[in-house]
Amino acid sequence: MDLRYSPEELAFRDELREWLSRTLPTLPPKPPADDWPARRAYDTAWQRLLFDAGYAGINWPKEVGGRGASPTEHLIFLEESERAGAPYVGVNFVGLLHAGPTLIAEGTEEQRTRHLPPILRGDEVWCQGFSEPGAGSDLASMRTRAVRDGDHYVVSGHKIWTSYASVANWCELLVRTDPDAPKHRGITWLIMPMDSPGIEIRPLKTLLGSSEFSEVFLDEVRVPVTNRVGAENDGWRVTMVTLSFERGTAWVDQIVDSARLVTELAVTATKVTSRGAAAWDDRGLRRDIGHLAAEFDALWALAKRGVTEASTGSGVPGPGASVLKLRYTEARQRLMDLAARVFDRAALSRADIAGLPNGEYVEERLNSLSYTIAAGTSQIQRNIISERILGLPRQKSSEK
Ligand SMILES: Cc1cc2nc3c(=O)[nH]c(=O)nc-3n(C[C@H](O)[C@H](O)[C@H](O)COP(=O)(O)OP(=O)(O)OC[C@H]3O[C@@H](n4cnc5c(N)ncnc54)[C@H](O)[C@@H]3O)c2cc1C
Repeated sequence: MDLRYSPEELAFRDELREWLSRTLPTLPPKPPADDWPARRAYDTAWQRLLFDAGYAGINWPKEVGGRGASPTEHLIFLEESERAGAPYVGVNFVGLLHAGPTLIAEGTEEQRTRHLPPILRGDEVWCQGFSEPGAGSDLASMRTRAVRDGDHYVVSGHKIWTSYASVANWCELLVRTDPDAPKHRGITWLIMPMDSPGIEIRPLKTLLGSSEFSEVFLDEVRVPVTNRVGAENDGWRVTMVTLSFERGTAWVDQIVDSARLVTELAVTATKVTSRGAAAWDDRGLRRDIGHLAAEFDALWALAKRGVTEASTGSGVPGPGASVLKLRYTEARQRLMDLAARVFDRAALSRADIAGLPNGEYVEERLNSLSYTIAAGTSQIQRNIISERILGLPRQKSSEK
């Protein structure tokens, strides 16, 4: 195996670097964190720039409008974008990283033609309507009902934690189409237009005071049968495809970001002093920084494996995605705990103190608490790894 970049890959990297250095200075200032319409406009404008330059859907097949890049070029794209500080997917996380890939793997020709180009151009944003108040880890217990009425499903129910629902055009929605079947067999995966009559969106506040997710109430919402992905009652299988994208390749850019933050933190540790000593003088802290740097290095190697796996064979990441999700999200929390040790008392303030970048780390420390819950909790990832990879005995119900 030759791990060096080929001349073509180096040329791709140089061309991308040049484009990023030319384009990033032209971006407007980032909008306020809780102004969701402005954030949508910012993120989708960036997506449009990527599209016009030929970088949208970097790993999507050419037939559906993507660039059809090799796994190595995909990784170069993620690395270079992160190093240059480029925006990344943002409010269309769902469309670009798991609904779009699910349509590529499972959608009809009409669905791909209708939905993939607007996602790539930044014209349309998606959200995910999977979780319900009584169905998170045990997702297959979801109760939102869909009853067939001619060419439509009539959907009623209650979804929760729906990220970006307030700015989305479409929702990847799980509904129960056969209430009498065993719970995993009566589920269907639908594409729901978010401007349909009967949808009420009530924003929820996160720990940081932001309203990135919402409760979504559905009252006899009519969804065309042609918006069904996969067969009726075969939605659990399609859901597994969506979740493997959500858990695997969707986190990859953050691993590069984490490796950068560890290096940044080591530099900051030389500047923060307490009782006459720099944080960096603490041997225990230096050892922990070293361990984390090695951890993110190993995670990057695992991510490369995941990206390669998803780009070859079936095109869908396997249960190994759970390993990456589990290990990365817990390492990210340890990184933020370490940052709190470095910043000492400044770790209690969301405002920067004495020229230190503590505010960003404090926000990210709070934010990172959600990573081990979103897309399936750490406990659920451990169950999946033990059952599907290690072959340990299965527990009775299976979860998200
Ligand atoms: C930031 C964020 C964004 C999200 N965005 C979306 C979204 O856009 N769309 C969407 O549909 N959902 C979204 N979610 C919801 C997310 O998928 C659920 O929160 C998650 O699956 C856990 O479900 P729950 O919150 O109901 O917790 P519960 O399932 O009630 O779990 C509570 C605790 O019990 C543990 N537990 C439960 N069952 C088991 C078991 N069998 N074995 C061991 N431990 C177990 C869990 O690990 C957890 O610690 C989001 C969540 C977060 C935090």
